[in-house]
Amino acid sequence: MSKTELINIWEDFCRRNGTFRLTDDIERVQLLAEGVLNNEKNQELKYCPCRMTTGSWAKDVKLICPCNFKVQKTWAEKGECWCGLFIRS
Ligand code: SF4
Repeated sequence: MSKTELINIWEDFCRRNGTFRLTDDIERVQLLAEGVLNNEKNQELKYCPCRMTTGSWAKDVKLICPCNFKVQKTWAEKGECWCGLFIRS
């Protein structure tokens, strides 16, 4: 999968949800897409580029992007996911 394909999937995810969008910071989006794809290449799953995996499946499954970011403290406080990729509309 290319970065463009992944970003298109994220944009579609936002459109279908309707309550959040991607950040306007295009460079950040590109960097995060690259990080996610690197994690997939090295660790076989699209892990969050901003957090470390632990080796525990039960914990690491929660790091697959997009994660359940609406339960994060940063979502409640700032209206964005931990990496600042998804932003409350
Ligand atoms: S914090 Fe953001 S970038 Fe990281 S996994 Fe969750 S949705 Fe993806």
